[in-house]
Amino acid sequence: MKICNPATEAIIAEYQEDTAETLSGKFSALKAGQKAWALRTPGERLECIRKFGDLVRTNKNELAAVLTAETGKPIQQSLNEINGAHNRIEHLSEYAVRVLADEVMTDTGNTHEKITYEPLGVIANISAWNFPYNVGYNVFLYALVAGNAVMYKPSEYAAMTGKQFEKYMHLSGVPRDVFQCVIGDGKLGQSMLELNFDGYFFTGSYKTGVHIAETVARKLVPLQLELGGKDPLYIADDVADVKQAAIHAAEGAFYNNGQSCCAVERIYVAESIYNEFVEAFVQEVGTYTMGDPASPDTFIGPVTREAQLEVLAKQVEDAVHKGATLRTGGERVPGKGYYIEPAVLINCNHEMDIMKEESFGPVIGIQKVSSDEEAVRLMQDTGYGLTAAVFCADEQRAKAILDVMDTGTVYWNCCDRVSPYVPWSGRRNSGLGATLSVQGIRAFTRPKAYHWRKPS
Ligand code: NDP
Repeated sequence: MKICNPATEAIIAEYQEDTAETLSGKFSALKAGQKAWALRTPGERLECIRKFGDLVRTNKNELAAVLTAETGKPIQQSLNEINGAHNRIEHLSEYAVRVLADEVMTDTGNTHEKITYEPLGVIANISAWNFPYNVGYNVFLYALVAGNAVMYKPSEYAAMTGKQFEKYMHLSGVPRDVFQCVIGDGKLGQSMLELNFDGYFFTGSYKTGVHIAETVARKLVPLQLELGGKDPLYIADDVADVKQAAIHAAEGAFYNNGQSCCAVERIYVAESIYNEFVEAFVQEVGTYTMGDPASPDTFIGPVTREAQLEVLAKQVEDAVHKGATLRTGGERVPGKGYYIEPAVLINCNHEMDIMKEESFGPVIGIQKVSSDEEAVRLMQDTGYGLTAAVFCADEQRAKAILDVMDTGTVYWNCCDRVSPYVPWSGRRNSGLGATLSVQGIRAFTRPKAYHWRKPS
């Protein structure tokens, strides 16, 4: 498999892909290795994960350069991701031992009832390229601490990072027959679906997620899907500072080139502040430095996948055709690399794909609304249910709007953020199940109920 740098289009690495045969051999080894791993205490397993975290932090500059080279993520954002993802290890350090411990529920008379949390076994972790540390850690770190073995398939666009995870995992004392990174594209992912894993944990698109759910349904093993979103942000008329709101909203839309599952994907603005907001937003986007992602000043790099350029161009064309105004950007940058100028479309409406279909790139649609009711109706007008955000001064107003959102996460005066202390989950087309938080630790276990009656 050839790895291409999206900024230069140069081939920067080549890997021997896994095959159905190597996959099957690795799966058998993981099956055997998991048993001994499960016999270690959660505290011992956590110790390996903490060592892994230390090694990653010690080598973060080298690792950030790898991530930037293969995905085009600006180097400062690669470092931010590596530094930020470490909070999963802090969360596990604080909670895992307690959450995985046996729970005595009844201890009266001669009846004793308790719950134990057994690992699932060997799990398949099929992952995405856009935040490989964040979305990878959400699954494989939590799975390992709970006593599972993991076969990790990074996206073909983040394979080099996946191999680094494997290297540092083994250096940290996680046995080779407990964590394996396999290399290949979607066909290899498909081969993983044919093996009898004890759980499937997928991060990626709705289309692939549904395909995986259908394919593994008859195995009757746990399945979790973290899928895409079309996340709305509403700027209400009482927002404290329109300019600050615009700066914040633009960052939510364009950080990592818009390639975040919880990126702001569409913006609704109260009509009384619409013009002021749009001007401040366009001005802010004009300050972004686009260029070589290896440069510390770059905020906008290339998009990771060449094919996405066409999706974005079509969304811009569709919106303009249906009456939107392209205030800035939208042009493919000539020369090497998959660059597109960040695009801001205004006067959008829900006839346009830009307000309904996931963009997953540096384009944003802005629409004027005349009331909270209209904003709520439009925010809900989507099959996705990942996140929804409101910027406004009045907490009760925000609560009234966000309480009715059918999304796994809601944000008041913030957006595009994830915390390990609360669950990360999508509803409807955005997914199934939850990672992070206490739920995200238990997601990798099966409860067993013990009914103990001592002879009297
Ligand atoms: P894809 O669905 O294309 O790919 C995701 C993973 O599935 C990759 O490892 C891919 O391999 C693999 N794959 C592809 N086809 C199959 C198959 N038939 N069977 C098994 N595995 C397969 O997603 P994208 O790469 O497009 O990722 C972006 C999407 O992920 C966006 O929709 C984004 O919103 C979502 N996402 C959601 C997150 C969340 O937490 N909710 C977080 C991050 C991203 P390969 O890439 O090698 O082809």
